[in-house]
Amino acid sequence: MALKLLLDGKLVDGAAGLEVINPATGTVLDIAPRADVAQAEQAIAAARRAFPAWSRLSYRERGKYLERLADALDARRDEFARLLTQEQGKPLAEAQGEVFGTSATLRWCAGQELKPVLLREDANERIMEQRYPLGVVAAIIPWNFPLALLTQKLGPALITGNVVIAKPAPTTPLTTLLFGEMAAEILPAGVLQTIVDNNDLGPLFTSHPGIDFVSFTGSTATGKKVMASAADTLKRFSLELGGNDAALILDDADLESVGPKVFGSAIGNSGQICIAVKRVYAPRAMVDPLCDIFARLAGEVVVGDGLNQGTTMGPVQNEAQYDKLVALLDETRAVGTIVAGGNVPDGPGYFLEPTVVRDLPDDARLVREEQFGPIVPVLGYDELDDVIARINATPYGLGGSVWSSDTDRAVEVASRIESGTVWVNRHRSLSPDVPFGGAKQSGIGVQNGLDGLREHTQGRIVNISLK
Ligand code: NAD
Repeated sequence: MALKLLLDGKLVDGAAGLEVINPATGTVLDIAPRADVAQAEQAIAAARRAFPAWSRLSYRERGKYLERLADALDARRDEFARLLTQEQGKPLAEAQGEVFGTSATLRWCAGQELKPVLLREDANERIMEQRYPLGVVAAIIPWNFPLALLTQKLGPALITGNVVIAKPAPTTPLTTLLFGEMAAEILPAGVLQTIVDNNDLGPLFTSHPGIDFVSFTGSTATGKKVMASAADTLKRFSLELGGNDAALILDDADLESVGPKVFGSAIGNSGQICIAVKRVYAPRAMVDPLCDIFARLAGEVVVGDGLNQGTTMGPVQNEAQYDKLVALLDETRAVGTIVAGGNVPDGPGYFLEPTVVRDLPDDARLVREEQFGPIVPVLGYDELDDVIARINATPYGLGGSVWSSDTDRAVEVASRIESGTVWVNRHRSLSPDVPFGGAKQSGIGVQNGLDGLREHTQGRIVNISLK
């Protein structure tokens, strides 16, 4: 396909090539242009040149650019969705949903404005707070939602007057490159640039004095490196990191209605979602019927190439993650009871079965760590206080959910869970207007909502004497 990097308004080849594997076949899908240090430096210099003019535009003017991006994306929705399925693995319907969400985010951002806030005004003085853009944003993106996470960063950054260098994960660069090619016809030079690496250029951006804000989504381990590397320049950053979300089912929940929702929230995108349900807690007496429901649902899942009609779960996105999950599965088999799935299909492709496991001790790796795959542990509990303590006994704090027929009771329980989001009778619901961020080691800062926009700006207090 010969996609190119977008550098300083021009579509250019990379210094080298990078093989991109289709996870459904294990074969090379395309060769992406891979940037070197010189091209990364060129991108930073071009971004700095582009920033003054872009930041001087009004919100309304920048919003029009975002709307044009969303229009262009909508017009090519099928092309983007197919490429997304091919590079990422998710079923085509999920890919179409991601593209749809991507343009919805751009449109929401297009209509926003951070207006100055009057803090105090009387005959003697007027004090107000303005927000101004930070400058050049490095958007560092993981491989699970390449497009949605690109625009979750791009929309807020651009509308508030920043310019962006987007660095996708090395295993899913193609949709970002295609987006860059599309944007080349819409945005002024240097406002968005795309840099593909092989996991080697991140530290250059996070430590570079020419980068003003790092918007990072990825693993907690890498997030810590980003934070350390940003220290020297006291760079602003937002970290959206890993999670180990618990779904807590209360004793009055209707399992027939709750079961499919919890299961779907665990295995969507083959479990590779930061806010997937990663642990399920049910009253001890409900573990048997819940496992029966999960096993039935797991049996209904159609695992396959996301481009095939009827596929409901695609492969794991990349070989490294697949190897990690196969090892975790082996370890889990030795300490728990597999009630559904658990087999590793013969290749090609990085396929796993949706797998349900019970009878695990709390210190099993599947319970303690983020699996990021379609393996769901079901854990029993006797008392509410105890299960809440077990749920909170994790360094993560991204999301969580409480399931009950009594909303008020569920909300009361939800308010005891230490995480950035707690859903009641749903999980994984995100929208551009609602702030989203992690507690504890799941992140620092927020994305989405006006709070997310503010993160891309510096507050400036203008303090006026009227005497
Ligand atoms: P990762 O941390 O390995 O990589 C993420 C990105 O960081 C990639 O673009 C990678 O090239 C880049 N990177 C690698 N080393 C770097 C360094 N030293 N400095 C700067 N950048 C560097 O994560 P992943 O494996 O691609 O993604 C999976 C993880 O992301 C999971 O833990 C998941 O929970 C998390 N995630 C979190 C959210 C959220 O919003 N909280 C969303 C999606 C994924």
